Amino acid sequence: MKKILTVLILLSLFSCNYFATPLDPREELGLIDATTMRKTASKAIGIANKILENQKQNFKLRASWENFKGNEQLLESTTKTINVFLLRPKNYFPTFEKETEVIDDFRSELENVKVNKDFDNCADEDDCVRNLYENHKIGPIVAHVLKQQATLEIAKTNPKSDYIALLDSDLQKFKMLFGKNISGDFNMPGFENFIAIILLHEIGHLNQSFNFSDLNSLPKDNYDALRDYHNSLNQNKKEETRADAYAAYLISNYAKSADETLSYEDRSVILYIPIQAMLVYIYQLFDKSEAGICRQYFDPSKTHPNLQLRYIAMSLILSEKPKDFGRLESYLYTRDTISKKDFAINNLECSRLHF
Ligand SMILES: [Zn+2]
Repeated sequence: MKKILTVLILLSLFSCNYFATPLDPREELGLIDATTMRKTASKAIGIANKILENQKQNFKLRASWENFKGNEQLLESTTKTINVFLLRPKNYFPTFEKETEVIDDFRSELENVKVNKDFDNCADEDDCVRNLYENHKIGPIVAHVLKQQATLEIAKTNPKSDYIALLDSDLQKFKMLFGKNISGDFNMPGFENFIAIILLHEIGHLNQSFNFSDLNSLPKDNYDALRDYHNSLNQNKKEETRADAYAAYLISNYAKSADETLSYEDRSVILYIPIQAMLVYIYQLFDKSEAGICRQYFDPSKTHPNLQLRYIAMSLILSEKPKDFGRLESYLYTRDTISKKDFAINNLECSRLHF
């Protein structure tokens, strides 16, 4: 397990949607102000603003729940203030205790997992991979976690509006599932770093002047692989991938430009991406059922690419290694191979997913 943890470096993900009319998000969404994640969201806004300023972006985030004391006048006239709202449904009774149990179960089952040596050469596209692990109790736990994750909508924005809405209840649930160290091998940076990455992703949606071609300073093979992948997507997935790219690009440039001066705390936002991605990878690793393989490789909807695929694409933007495009190509190759298998076509759960 330790080996897996130290070898894998991927990236972070989240789900968000557009909606059409630029109104007060509370009216638009029928939601009310939430308070549980306020402190964390305030910290996240501070982190995201630091990166936006460092990268000379004409956006500044402001928490709707904080009194503002006139800093706005000091902003450049070209800087756009984006209000961040933290919202929840009116009648909402969280049931996170159940998710805590799920994570505890995953941890204890992880200790019981053994690789069946007769099948350790099986690749994900081979039918024999179904026999890889001797503990089959962990698969359903993974399935539960990933199915829960697929229902979460943790942020919303609209290119015509000046706000970002964070969904407090879904953030809490995401934190429960992916904001914890599930293996005990490393320190988990604060969840505010994850929210900061989400905020940058949302600003990516609002900043339509950022183009995928702005990534062309990356090592050529990495850029070419990313561009080809991006070109292959439908309009919605292209936009999600562009917003992911914007967030990763800002963080990468922030890391380079401020490398010498960053404190450990400042550095957490850069570390959060590979650590959180690793957690998603670890979960997916232990469900080799037909549906589990489909969830690992196929997209959960027509609008968002697969979580792991998004991490791989973002990690290529953070990477300076010219050969890292191989991970993206190999993932897409495996996915293509699996999509042609009988089980992927005939399994009901698989056929509900998209590729
Ligand atoms: Zn998005």
